[in-house]
Amino acid sequence: MTADDWNEQLDDLAALGLRRSLRLISSAQNHHITSAGRELVNFASNNYLGLAAHPHVTSAVKAAVDEWGWGAGASRLVSGHMEPHRCLEERLAAFKRAEAALVCPTGYAANLAAVRALGRSGDAILLDKLNHASIIDAAMGSGAIVRVYPHGDLSKLERLLERTADAPRRIIVTDSVFSMDGDLADLPRLVELKQRYRAMLVVDEAHATGVFGKRGAGVAEWQGVEHQIDVVVGTLSKALGGIGGFIAAARLVIDWIINTAGPFIYTTGIPPAACVAAMAALDVVVREPERRRRVLESAVRVRETLQALGWKTGPSCSQIIPVIVGDAERAVALSRRLEESGLLVPAIRPPTVPRGSSRLRISLSSEHTPDDLERLLEALGEAR
Ligand SMILES: *Cc1c(COP(=O)(O)O)cnc(C)c1O
Repeated sequence: MTADDWNEQLDDLAALGLRRSLRLISSAQNHHITSAGRELVNFASNNYLGLAAHPHVTSAVKAAVDEWGWGAGASRLVSGHMEPHRCLEERLAAFKRAEAALVCPTGYAANLAAVRALGRSGDAILLDKLNHASIIDAAMGSGAIVRVYPHGDLSKLERLLERTADAPRRIIVTDSVFSMDGDLADLPRLVELKQRYRAMLVVDEAHATGVFGKRGAGVAEWQGVEHQIDVVVGTLSKALGGIGGFIAAARLVIDWIINTAGPFIYTTGIPPAACVAAMAALDVVVREPERRRRVLESAVRVRETLQALGWKTGPSCSQIIPVIVGDAERAVALSRRLEESGLLVPAIRPPTVPRGSSRLRISLSSEHTPDDLERLLEALGEAR
């Protein structure tokens, strides 16, 4: 490939309005950030509880680096399994009310590891259409038969379960908070179905961990089905503010994943200090439930005001709020206009969302002040 070839390919993307580039942030990840010399209120981050730069987390990391150094040096299975990894896994298992937990390099890798280790050739994996890309990649690479049901359509899922009765194992995989619409899966009904059809249920709580539930354990806790989920996947990178992913399940399932999952086996353990960071973040989640209450209360207020202004917020009932404008150019123009007012709210276009449903995607943090929210609502009121 010559430079011209690459340019041509990139121009093709640009012509479709799909060329992307990186935005440089020149401050720590807080609810206000600096970019291109300007301060912006950040409505584009998964740092839902403000823990990415929280002093309790950063001071724990500094001490951990002094004690444990930086790298893990090897795959966890070779010599990279250190005490902070084990401690964090015990904390995560208790937090998720599971027998055992396994830390993976990212949430993406955790989905690859869990779904690929569980689904073998001949098995059937059943997916919600709006599941996260990592789940779809994981299912496609598993060798199992993959079937997709329309978003939230559990009667269609039931028909798929009937039709895949011959598969040795049926595995339903779902997000608990869907990342583009901000709505929730109906986990009690999914549990009912998986029991009736003797399937397994894997729930990805990436956006819910730390935010939903009395203890902050996620939507499974909030909907009262914690003990009925076979495998929970989560991330340490969203509300917990760091890096890494995890799987929580019965000890034998975790043992099977350790023994068979490439995305866990053939990769280096995360730095021990990253495990300490996640434990410090969990301390704050446990100690300060007002953070999750605050972010969900802000979400109610923002949704209600936007709806009163005539904006469509779709089925959102979480800290993720889409403002659906339809046309891709209009979404981009609106995002640009908000940025001129000092508000960072990304536009989401096809193919990430279906054609005609381009939107702004507001992600709230417990650290957004009433003034931050007021500025957002005022700007969207003026743009209406
Ligand atoms: C973000 C996300 C992931 C990936 O987590 P990372 O730790 O960022 O790799 C997986 N699943 C869902 C539903 C997500 O939203």
